[in-house]
Amino acid sequence: MPIKILLADKSITIQKVVEMLFSGKEYEVLCVSDGETALSEAQRVIPDVVLVDIDLPRIDAYSFVSALNCVMAQRLVRMICPECKREAAADAELLEFSGLDPEQYGGRAWYEGAGCEHCHGTGYRGRAAVTEFLDLSPNIRQMIIERRPLPELQEAALAEGLVTLRQSALDAVFRGETTLKEINRVTFVD
Ligand SMILES: [Zn+2]
Repeated sequence: MPIKILLADKSITIQKVVEMLFSGKEYEVLCVSDGETALSEAQRVIPDVVLVDIDLPRIDAYSFVSALNCVMAQRLVRMICPECKREAAADAELLEFSGLDPEQYGGRAWYEGAGCEHCHGTGYRGRAAVTEFLDLSPNIRQMIIERRPLPELQEAALAEGLVTLRQSALDAVFRGETTLKEINRVTFVD
């Protein structure tokens, strides 16, 4: 039995990336572009894994999520060009805007792409996905069914070890793979 993956994402690029990543015989990828179709397909095929765009159009997140075992959200971020990567000074204003204490984070190494012919002067080359994976434990599922407020749900998920989209994006910055400016473009400050 192949692992069934339901991808609910309106971006054709992401659909292509996921189809490429799971192109083997052991996987079966089904792509849908809106919430209503995602929900009906989730009930029809009973997928093993669901990848869902959190900004999906036409979705009632609660009824959707209660039909699932787990939820993975992802964003594509541009990677720093390896040809022109260089160390950069911390920008206190940018740190603060990014929800990071300049006192605490100002001293560490930050990286950026200077811009070169390989990246057409942008400083970025290639993309990678940052992800948030939420395992729907009985406790979380019950909270969703009871329609408990989102902050309460988030707190419970974090207590159970959820790594948020923002945290996994920050981790990519700390590894020197991308920049704060880039992740601020695609994820929110927690
Ligand atoms: Zn470059």
